[in-house]
Amino acid sequence: MTDAALKPALGPAPCAGVLLPYPLPGPYDYKLPSGTEVARGLLVTAPLGKRETIGAVWGEAEGAVGDNRLKYAEPIEGHPVLPDDLCDFVDWVADYTLTAKGLVLAMALRSARQALGEDVPRIAYALGGALPKKLTPPRARVLELLKDGLFRTVPAIAEEANVGAAVVRGLIDCGALVAVTLPEFDALPAPEPDFAPAALSLEQEAAARSLKAQVASHRFAVSLLDGVTGSGKTETYFEAVAEALRRKRQALILLPEIALTVQFLDRFAERFGVRPAEWHSDLSQKERRRVWRAVMGGEARVVVGARSALFLPFRELGLVVVDEEHEQAYKQEDGAVYHARDMAVVRARLAQCPAVLASATPSLETYVNATSGRYAHLKLPRRHGDAVLPEVRLIDLTRERGEPGTFLSPPLRDALAKTLAAGEQAMLFLNRRGYAPLTLCEICGHKLTCPHCAAWLVEHRYRKRLVCHHCGFDAAVPPECPQCHSPASFIACGPGVERVAEEFAAAFPAARVAIASSDTMHGPAETQAAIRAMIKREIDVLIGTQIVAKGHHFPQLTLVGVIDADLGGSDGDLRARERTFQLLHQVSGRAGRADKPGLVLIQTRNPKDTVMQALASGDRDAFYEQERLLRARTQAPPFGRLAAIILSGRDGDAVRKSGRDLAKAAPAARGVKIWGPTPAFYSLLRGQTRERLLVQAERTVNIQAYLRTWLRSVQIPNAVRVTVDVDPVSFF
Ligand code: ADP
Ligand code: ZN
Ligand code: ZN
Repeated sequence: MTDAALKPALGPAPCAGVLLPYPLPGPYDYKLPSGTEVARGLLVTAPLGKRETIGAVWGEAEGAVGDNRLKYAEPIEGHPVLPDDLCDFVDWVADYTLTAKGLVLAMALRSARQALGEDVPRIAYALGGALPKKLTPPRARVLELLKDGLFRTVPAIAEEANVGAAVVRGLIDCGALVAVTLPEFDALPAPEPDFAPAALSLEQEAAARSLKAQVASHRFAVSLLDGVTGSGKTETYFEAVAEALRRKRQALILLPEIALTVQFLDRFAERFGVRPAEWHSDLSQKERRRVWRAVMGGEARVVVGARSALFLPFRELGLVVVDEEHEQAYKQEDGAVYHARDMAVVRARLAQCPAVLASATPSLETYVNATSGRYAHLKLPRRHGDAVLPEVRLIDLTRERGEPGTFLSPPLRDALAKTLAAGEQAMLFLNRRGYAPLTLCEICGHKLTCPHCAAWLVEHRYRKRLVCHHCGFDAAVPPECPQCHSPASFIACGPGVERVAEEFAAAFPAARVAIASSDTMHGPAETQAAIRAMIKREIDVLIGTQIVAKGHHFPQLTLVGVIDADLGGSDGDLRARERTFQLLHQVSGRAGRADKPGLVLIQTRNPKDTVMQALASGDRDAFYEQERLLRARTQAPPFGRLAAIILSGRDGDAVRKSGRDLAKAAPAARGVKIWGPTPAFYSLLRGQTRERLLVQAERTVNIQAYLRTWLRSVQIPNAVRVTVDVDPVSFF
């Protein structure tokens, strides 16, 4: 680890290695103005070629002090210094993921430049004492509004008093309103630890006590909060958050999807009196600026965010929570490839604070860590209140099938009819966007595929387009088959959510139904609206993709139907079974969360499959134990290590040749096996040919060192991109 504070350099102009937020091999040397107190993490602006960029002092200069050719870097106004544990974290992530350090720093400095810039004060107005000569009704409304003494900006006054901005300007000109200068942002309201604590059940209380003790001791520890769906995991870890607040520490809560945050923020506000600070890609520049600054200044006490929130400059981090820790969304796959759950644990270790991983269906890695005693294992085996876990039944599609081309089996239809007659709500789940996943020519069998990807085009009937879900390419359905030229010969194969909705509406014309899916047609706003409508009981049935599967709490939902449980089951992917189990278990967990018991019907062609059996019996741990043995036997993670190398580029031959060259150059090492190169699952994506190699190593092998030596030994042409994915979770 680098020195926390470097020795103040002798001589007039100290030098230092400055890390810049670009994919450069390491820090560059710069001079700093004499008298600068040089510390690791000191934020500076530095010239780089013709530009000027922000950077951070990272260590001693490499070259000789006093080198006259060195350029000057200037400390940023106020000499802000990144917290030391954040610098350590940047180093750690870069080393572990084999990412250029500068690129990892870029994540930590995202928005820093704006955040550290000058304040942009806001001009607001208050009553000025003078009265306008003519008091029109709009003017009177403005004066009436401002009687409460609050300062407001011109647009705010115009909106609240329902007048045009010109009316407000007129009042300013005649002195009826006077200007006041406000700081750029209102102070962030502080969450109150004792605002509205929940009355915890005995089990929740026991888990909360353990978490609070960890927060209080301010040491690194990891806990798996392992609670069935609806058991109140959130209420429980909120107590740990409250404890961090009481101890004047900051807390970070990671959520897998932004779509989940609205409900979450409200719940947080109910418990703590105010909403927490948010951090994710949907924030405006201005909000980012505000939050980054507030975190750095210690003013933001609790941040709820997506994985990138790990790189915020917390001053006094006291708790990290990873909710739904098993979610694949925690894996970032472009830019720096990292797993936010694993990095959250590292972040907590470097900050010397506890980490809490919460899930009803933990990842196998976490499950193994918890059952082997490495992590504390806190269990909430029951649902909160009187709610019970739903009954899960399998529907064998090889026997119980409806008409050809229909997707709701007779038992599912019956159950839907009963639920609707009882005035209760239902949810239909299918993890496929659009109308049909495949469109083919009825005459010659020609399949419509994307010109840029090795993937089928998905029909979106609502938009009347065929869409590639990988690159976004879209086209109209061609009037004739491009292969056999038969006119209007295309038929839709298989269901997507739109098609299920169509079938449902035909069968139950009186029911109120909405679709929630993560595509552009049914975008985030529509999804949120559908979810709200479901909570308010404005709809009877919600039909959705995985976006509706997780986290939501619909008290009146008693029936869940899984249209096709076999999707994504057998693609040879190490985690496919685990993932199917997790997803379907989470979906099932939406049913019967309040006083009425729930029923889950799972349609499958493989009812004997162990995943299906585990779902039906509710014996989660039997399934996990089986997976554990399987992974142990095959030395798959967490019993062995994996890393993938993905080569991609427009020139397919160059990509394939690089793959062969790499494979040939693989150093021989004990406990390391190399697989491939093979075409990736999507061998063509956005016009890029893709080849994969997989490294499998025993746990004791330093896979990073191995990869570094290997990659250094081969000359890969610039036109071929190399992506290293340590601990891959997807195999596409
Ligand atoms: P999980 O995250 O474990 O699936 P939630 O935290 O969403 O479960 O809790 C399910 C429901 O039960 C929520 O509506 C929550 O507010 C409620 N709940 C859980 N524990 C309590 C409690 N101790 N007091 C009041 N309500 C609770
Ligand atoms: Zn044809
Ligand atoms: Zn495509």
